[in-house]
Amino acid sequence: MDGRRAEGTSGRFAEVTNPATGEVTARVPLASVAETADAVASARAAFPAWRDTSLAKRTRVLFAFRQLLDARADELAEIITAEHGKVLSDAAGEVARGLEVVEFACGIPHLLKGSATTNASTDVDVASVRQPVGPVAVISPFNFPAMVPMWFFPIAIATGNTVVLKPSEKVPTAALWLAELWQEAGLPDGVFTVLGGDKVAVDTLLTSPDIKAVSFVGSTPVARYVYETGTTHGKRVQALGGAKNHMVVLPDADLDLAADQAVNAGFGSAGERCMATSVVVAVGDVADQLVGRIADRAKALKTGDGRRSCDMGPLVSAAARDRVSGYIDAGEKAGATLVVDGRDGEFDADGAGFFVGPTLFDHVRPDMSIYTDEIFGPVLSVVRADSYAEAVELINANPYGNGTAIFTNDGGAARRFANDIEVGMVGINVPVPVPVAYYSFGGWKSSLFGDTHAHGTDGVHFYTRGKVVTTRWPGQGHGGIDLGFPQNA
Ligand code: NAD
Repeated sequence: MDGRRAEGTSGRFAEVTNPATGEVTARVPLASVAETADAVASARAAFPAWRDTSLAKRTRVLFAFRQLLDARADELAEIITAEHGKVLSDAAGEVARGLEVVEFACGIPHLLKGSATTNASTDVDVASVRQPVGPVAVISPFNFPAMVPMWFFPIAIATGNTVVLKPSEKVPTAALWLAELWQEAGLPDGVFTVLGGDKVAVDTLLTSPDIKAVSFVGSTPVARYVYETGTTHGKRVQALGGAKNHMVVLPDADLDLAADQAVNAGFGSAGERCMATSVVVAVGDVADQLVGRIADRAKALKTGDGRRSCDMGPLVSAAARDRVSGYIDAGEKAGATLVVDGRDGEFDADGAGFFVGPTLFDHVRPDMSIYTDEIFGPVLSVVRADSYAEAVELINANPYGNGTAIFTNDGGAARRFANDIEVGMVGINVPVPVPVAYYSFGGWKSSLFGDTHAHGTDGVHFYTRGKVVTTRWPGQGHGGIDLGFPQNA
């Protein structure tokens, strides 16, 4: 805080583990109400000077941050793997996608240009500008310790706001590392503060009158709560929630491509991605062949410590592992066909890591808990549908609407799908359709509360307020007193 590390004083801590070994590696202090208020006060104090720092100077800090992050990306990837568990190449991918948002934010002057009209009325000019909203809070989940915070803070900072980041207490080190990088890049103290904490810190941020906007990413129940509480307290809020992403495979699809991508999108990051594919909808007679090909690939994956050359790492915690195993038990009991069972896997790791191997279910029905719930683990369900229309109906009936994909060689069907589907991000033969940084990321329905998506122009809009300035410089005569409503002349 204020450019230095503060020791926690609440006496409450969360344990940070290395999920590949089960070892406790750190204890993160959980901020009290007073400590959270101090972090907000620091962001508030830093705001006026940062808001008034010229765009040229602000942008220079952004470029310096970008250079440092690019040069030291491997260091950050190692931190992510050590606390989250995802394999190193996946962690490096996360950093690269975060870096793209920093690069987008380096071009912020262009996006803050506003507009101007001369002589809108006689001798009257009108200009619209966008100004920062003030101190803002970013509250992030465990599954992308660096990328998700970077969806938000580069743009918030570039547009002149100050930021309090409350990372997941399971993976706090990446955020602290990023704070040090900002300091090295020349960001003034107080503009970016990392606050270790849990619900106490979140509630204090949501109710503080000094926090003007909140960007949240996490599970749907908490996203809904954050949205409702934050907006009730007068803030603008974007709250991104959970997901259940379907991949439709039409009968004319390239089945090897579809099987490869189902495995990549289903088991990448052990399924702990909000854009993971968790349901494959096999349309028509492709199901038997498709399930066989996915199963062969899933069985060949190596699961273990993400620092070794494995395909898939552990789950984030023992509780997550037990929850995922519980869903596999429930799927079997409900009568789905367990084609590949990740509970019996062999894992390349030392110690008691939190592993579940790739798991594949066939003949899954929409009433089973493995279909209705976000499992957030390496469990892929195949639902069989008789037709394209049945597949679309299934997806549109789902309460989530984050991402979806269709695999087909039929351009007309793909185009119709992109139009018909009630989901925020759509892939055509692209399994994880995460938009590039200059577009905006966000789902529909229970996957996002609020109307503004993350990064891209939506991000710029979220962190700025519009203002319109109408100007007349008096000439010879100023017209005298006239109480009528001003009319254009
Ligand atoms: P989570 O909801 O448990 O936690 C998210 C954040 O909220 C954390 O910082 C946590 O400390 C805080 N929090 C937790 N419980 C709280 C409560 N009761 N009150 C106030 N704050 C609380 O989510 P998670 O387990 O860290 O992350 C996984 C979830 O995030 C999944 O559901 C996943 O789909 C979702 N996610 C969504 C997106 C997206 O873009 N839509 C991206 C990544 C993750």
